[in-house]
Amino acid sequence: MGWFERTYHRITKGKKKIDVPDGLWTKCTNCSEIIYNKNLNENLKVCPKCGYHFYLGARERIQITVDEGSFVEYNSKISLNNPLNFPEYEEKLNKGREKTGLDEAAVIGEGKIGGQLVAIGVTDFGFMGGSMGLTVGERITFIVEKAIEKGYPLLLISGSGGGARMQEGVISLMQMAKTSSAIAELKRKGLLYISLLTHPTMGGVMASFASGGDIVIAEPGALLGFAGPRVIKQTIKQQIPQGFQRSEFLLAHGMIDLIVERSKIRPTLIKILDFLIG
Ligand SMILES: [Zn+2]
Repeated sequence: MGWFERTYHRITKGKKKIDVPDGLWTKCTNCSEIIYNKNLNENLKVCPKCGYHFYLGARERIQITVDEGSFVEYNSKISLNNPLNFPEYEEKLNKGREKTGLDEAAVIGEGKIGGQLVAIGVTDFGFMGGSMGLTVGERITFIVEKAIEKGYPLLLISGSGGGARMQEGVISLMQMAKTSSAIAELKRKGLLYISLLTHPTMGGVMASFASGGDIVIAEPGALLGFAGPRVIKQTIKQQIPQGFQRSEFLLAHGMIDLIVERSKIRPTLIKILDFLIG
């Protein structure tokens, strides 16, 4: 294969074929607009034409959320690799590591948002769908406990389409109870918990810490729920409503408090923190 073929790949936009140089352009998943990557990045990975919110990794997410240079990451060891000897689990973990540069699907630490110290945990959809096994559960619990210890408000940002990680079986499911009870303790102490839901957040993550915020914010158009729409449709054997499990549907049914587009998230968090704490 020559340099030309290697450098260019063809993508389809309607019936028209367009040559797109690798790494320079992205085709919008929603409106098919071809976007110059530099513009996409400057726009916080939101399509300038239709407002579609692209995947954002945990580190990028922290970077656009906290005051510059204020984030201090907490490192925690990974104590368990493949408890059930689940086939190909290690390969999947390695792939996740390669893809995201993270050692696991959650990053935790503390940082300032508008000058206010906040305990922060972020799950990364790029790492095995942001799914929660022992390490993710431990890290989320750890950051909740840190918030309690230091008296900080807590911000958890979820991008966890994978829910509870099936490769760790019941150990994953136990993380739902563990993270939820840590959050219940945080609330007993009267501390604030803001949950930010990003596309997609499903399953055991949505059914535990992600939906437990005092204030639950979602990005526009995010798929948020427990079982996915396809599974529900097959189970109840009925058509499901248009826009089911999207942020807008959840807001209309009182399941979340706010939908905030990405560029307004940081100012919104600053306002909430200032109003409730500052
Ligand atoms: Zn678009």
